[in-house]
Amino acid sequence: MMESVSRRSFLQHSLKVGAASALLGPDGSALANPPAFRPIVIASGNGLRAVAKAMELIKSGRSALDAVIAGVNINEDDPEDMSVGYGGLPNEDGEVELDASVMDGLTCRAGAVGGLKHIKNPSKVARMVMERTDHIFLCGEGALRFALAHGFQKENLLTEKARKAWLAWKEAMSSNDNWLNEDQAAVEGAAPNGKRVSAHDEQTLQALLRTYGTINCCAIDLKGNLAGVTTTSGLSWKIAGRLGDSPIIGAGLYVDNEVGAAGSTGRGEANIKVCGGHTVVENMRRGMTPEQACLEVLERVVKTTKEKRLLDERKRPKFNLHFYAINRQGEFGSAALWSEATFSLHDGQAAKSMASAYLFKKS
Ligand code: ASP
Repeated sequence: MMESVSRRSFLQHSLKVGAASALLGPDGSALANPPAFRPIVIASGNGLRAVAKAMELIKSGRSALDAVIAGVNINEDDPEDMSVGYGGLPNEDGEVELDASVMDGLTCRAGAVGGLKHIKNPSKVARMVMERTDHIFLCGEGALRFALAHGFQKENLLTEKARKAWLAWKEAMSSNDNWLNEDQAAVEGAAPNGKRVSAHDEQTLQALLRTYGTINCCAIDLKGNLAGVTTTSGLSWKIAGRLGDSPIIGAGLYVDNEVGAAGSTGRGEANIKVCGGHTVVENMRRGMTPEQACLEVLERVVKTTKEKRLLDERKRPKFNLHFYAINRQGEFGSAALWSEATFSLHDGQAAKSMASAYLFKKS
């Protein structure tokens, strides 16, 4: 059984960096002249190495933008992280398609790539789109040609491990892919079509739950500038060309130096509908703490999820969605639909894994 947990109980746990705790320098000693702004780096649960790397760079004087991109490059390069970059799980055709976005709070510029093949660091290409084009979002073949023009190397991103996982799915799922049958496409409130999903189909659906995974990382640097990045191989076994929330500015990422930064991981389709990253930032602009801001958007996600196939017997989403946020005062927070989700944080002292707030408790 899963229990709904009141939002108020989480608000009491709104997280704030302790003003009394000193910022440590690269050698571990307290800084004699601490900077005006206290740096913070937040990331998804798989981002412990990323927040450590980003904080190291920020302490050495690099910008938040440089720092977060260098942080997530660790995951993009790691074949064991099968949700990002090299080694990411492929689409239904067995091809790895990567999505990424970056946003710089200082310049208010953004860049993104979607459905990018063969380039293992889409976050770097997204930055290049931001800095070296008059556009914000390139996708598919055009994004690849742009990356090659800027000297990125074409590589095979499909590792043996990812290929075997895809093949196992393919062999088990030849009759059940991302194309929905009538029962699966049923919408809450619509008249039943008289057909039932068979027990076999039900089992198959459960066994082949789509795999999500992504890294989001946002930071505030020593000058008080904010930046963020989200990078992913997206939903595994997706229909070729599918874009999730990660590369969409305002959904998987949003940054505004005047307010804060927010990003997401989890079911992108649910996030796109509520423009989550932007809405979290706007909630903070209206005075919510980062954690409150994330929880409010998750409540919108619950309200906007009407598809029967996505709801449990108590009409709660079966999927998870997770937001991470910081504000310019150095407060941070994170929340997910379901409990037992974690996020990564570096507060200038240490990289740590922390529990996110949530709407529904898993038993
Ligand atoms: N949000 C990503 C997407 O929908 C996947 C994830 O975060 O797991 O593509």
